[in-house]
This record gives sequence, structure tokens and C-alpha cells, in this order.
Amino acid sequence: MPSLTDRHRVQPGQPLRLADVDPRDTSAFPGDKEAGRARKQLLNARLEELQEALYAEGRHRVLVVLQAMDAGGKDGTIRSVFDGVNPQGVRVACFKQPTPKELAHDFLWRVHPHAPGAGEIAIWNRSHYEDVLIVRVHDLVPEVRWRQRYAHIVAFERMLAEEGTTICKFFLHIGKEEQRRRLQERIDDPKKRWKWHSRDLDERRRWDDYQAAYEEAIAATSTAHAPWHVVPADRNWYRDLVVSEVLVSTLESLRIRLPEGEPGIDGLRVT
Ligand code: ATP
Ligand code: MG
Repeated sequence: MPSLTDRHRVQPGQPLRLADVDPRDTSAFPGDKEAGRARKQLLNARLEELQEALYAEGRHRVLVVLQAMDAGGKDGTIRSVFDGVNPQGVRVACFKQPTPKELAHDFLWRVHPHAPGAGEIAIWNRSHYEDVLIVRVHDLVPEVRWRQRYAHIVAFERMLAEEGTTICKFFLHIGKEEQRRRLQERIDDPKKRWKWHSRDLDERRRWDDYQAAYEEAIAATSTAHAPWHVVPADRNWYRDLVVSEVLVSTLESLRIRLPEGEPGIDGLRVT
């Protein structure tokens, strides 16, 4: 079976056409939804162990970047993939519309303080990528400036990686019809209304511009030290499975070891 991890990774320098990626595709996994959920549960238990070891060892830092169109499932992914993982040592940072103080600084200023420390996993729900996505689509800074940011992002992420941070980036790829369905649900379901913003409709009208911005940004910034994964995300079970699979295999590759404990601990009796 082709590994789920490799299947959705964007190779450095490879152009990306999102129209060629089917958001409903689940073919890299040989089973159905039930089997996928069961596999994800196993991975979830493994993630719990690996995170505890990461925290205990206090050596590696892990950064998870999540990007998606509105209603793309970032919140649901965090809830499901990190279900049961000890919140101590895992931090989520959400990047919404910048404050005046944030806008008064360079675009990396607000994200850097949320980079993970030793033994931590940081999850970024939106990120510095907004500054080449919404900023481009809404023409918030001139093109020459946002274009330069691809190189700044690659350099920033290389610096983080060389200083000991492992970076995994995910674009949760939903289809336009699926977005319509999910936004409608936010209107129809009283429990989901808090998520609804009328500006979502305006953003939806710019769907094609966003897809183009994502394609270019992902292709320009998928590197060996900070690879992107384009995850077919219409089906939640498959999305959660792929993200879990990538995170577990990335953490496994770090060869984390639990500290051995103080010398002389063997055979010690607590009286
Ligand atoms: P959901 O996917 O559930 O709708 P969300 O992440 O979109 O959640 P919202 O509060 O709906 O959360 O929206 C946050 C908004 O802030 C997004 O439209 C995002 O594009 C915008 N934003 C984030 N960073 C920037 C930035 N640097 N400049 C301008 N807008 C930004
Ligand atoms: Mg939104």
C-alpha cells in the first residue's frame, strides 16, 4: 500500500494544481470509514505515548501548521487528532485578523513567540501563511511585498528547523460543494451559528483566487525541512487519519527516548 504519508506530501519544487486533487479521494487507504476510524484510534494512542516521551525528553520541538478554506475542518482536526493527548506540552495558537499592534510589525513578528519550546508541540490554526493568502486575495499589501514573503517564509522555517524544530504543514483541501454544505449547516444548526460570519460569503465568492493563492504558496514553500501535505478533506475520517499518520511517523522518526532516571534508582524502595 502506498504510504498515506508520502502520498499527500508536496515534493519541493513540484508545481501544484489543486483541481487535480480530489477532495473526496480516500484511495490511499485500503479500508472504509469504519476501518479508517479504527486505525486512527490506534494512531491516537501512539500519539499520546510519543507526546509524553517528547515532553519527558525535552529535546525536540514540533510545529504543526494547519491551513484551510473557511469551514475546511481545522478545528475538528485538532479536536480529533489530539483527542486524549495531554494538554500539558501541547499548545494551540489561532491567528485571526491582526491587531493594530501586529500590523505595525513585520508579518513574522506575531507568530514567532508561538513557536514550540523544547519538548512541546505547537499547533498553529492559521499562520504566517495568511500573509500570502488573504493578504494577496484582498490586496492588503502590494504584490512585490507579498511575493518576497515566500523567500522570507522559507528562510524563517529553515532557521526554526536548524535550531531543532520539526515542522509539518497541512492544507485541508475541501471541495466547493462541501464548503457550501458546511456553511449552510452553520446557518441551519443553532449549535453551529456561533461559527457563522457573513463575511464567509464574500470569501466564498473569491474561491478561485484563494485556490490560486494556495497553489502558489504551497508550491513555493514545500521544502525538505518544512514539507506541505495536501490532505483530501471532504471526508473527516480520512482527513483525521492522514494527519494522524503523518504526525505519528514524523514523531517516530525523531527516535525519542524516555530519560533513564537518576543513577541509583534501580531497586530503590520508598519507605
Ligand atoms: P473557520 O474555518 O471555522 O471559519 P477561521 O479560522 O476562519 O475558522 P474566523 O474567526 O472565522 O476563524 O476567521 C479568522 C479570519 O482572520 C480569517 O478570515 C483569516 O483569513 C483572517 N486572518 C488571519 N490572519 C490574517 C492576516 N494576517 N491578515 C488578514 N486577515 C487574517
Ligand atoms: Mg472563518
